[in-house]
Amino acid sequence: MLLTFDLDDVIFNMKPLTMEAFRRAGVPYVKQTSWNIDEIYDKKLCDNLIDLWSSDMLYTMPVLDKGIPHILNALMAQPETEVLFVTERRLKQPEKTFRQLRQAGINCSFVQVYDQEGLKSDILKDIKPDIHFDDSPNVIRGCMEKSVPVTMISNNSTLYNHYLRPYVEHYTSLRRALMKKGLLTNLK
Ligand SMILES: [Mg+2]
Repeated sequence: MLLTFDLDDVIFNMKPLTMEAFRRAGVPYVKQTSWNIDEIYDKKLCDNLIDLWSSDMLYTMPVLDKGIPHILNALMAQPETEVLFVTERRLKQPEKTFRQLRQAGINCSFVQVYDQEGLKSDILKDIKPDIHFDDSPNVIRGCMEKSVPVTMISNNSTLYNHYLRPYVEHYTSLRRALMKKGLLTNLK
């Protein structure tokens, strides 16, 4: 079984980085209600967010759930399961993304990391996962259009994807999604 995982707001908690962008812009924190940040935040804040992506804050971004690195490592250790990490960050920095995953205790190799140019749903269509886990409404809609099986992570931090809840299988956390799909039952 091939499982593919988005990183931000699925495995990693973006909130500290987002809060830092607001702090630097000197404006109070406002939840992200739309995927298009240019529509809801002013330019200075958007620029801060983009700058922070290339900063070393990436390496200290916490995981959303402390148990997830262990769960992912256990999934990767199963011979019948292949795991890939597919992210669509504005700055394409696969080496940094790989280092971030390793620093979080996720024992992947560099070839498991996809952080490249191109539409993510097209990349996923080529990869052909059995399940892809994501929170981005654009990626989820793209997957649905291209018949890529997708499960949405949707909670109080992802207000931007709630409008898709009637159309796609969704869970509040990655752990819950994996549990409900029976993927945690045989893990060591
Ligand atoms: Mg994401």
